[in-house]
Amino acid sequence: MRCFICNGNATDTPFTHGGISFDCTGCGAYSISGTALHLCQNDLLAFHVERSREWLAERREEGEERPIIYALDDLLILPR
Ligand SMILES: [Zn+2]
Repeated sequence: MRCFICNGNATDTPFTHGGISFDCTGCGAYSISGTALHLCQNDLLAFHVERSREWLAERREEGEERPIIYALDDLLILPR
């Protein structure tokens, strides 16, 4: 499957409550909540690549190996 943040190649495994866990070469390991997935799959919102990667890096510095991305306002933007 394609990475939901950068659209690069990523492996995916199911995550709790309808979400998906991704292992992306560019973004690293992370999980996306079912709500965020729903918004992206329906082209309602898209991830801001830079901001999302920064957010992931901050979470990892705090000790989360696989941060979970929820439908956060500052990470999601309107698709182009
Ligand atoms: Zn990615």
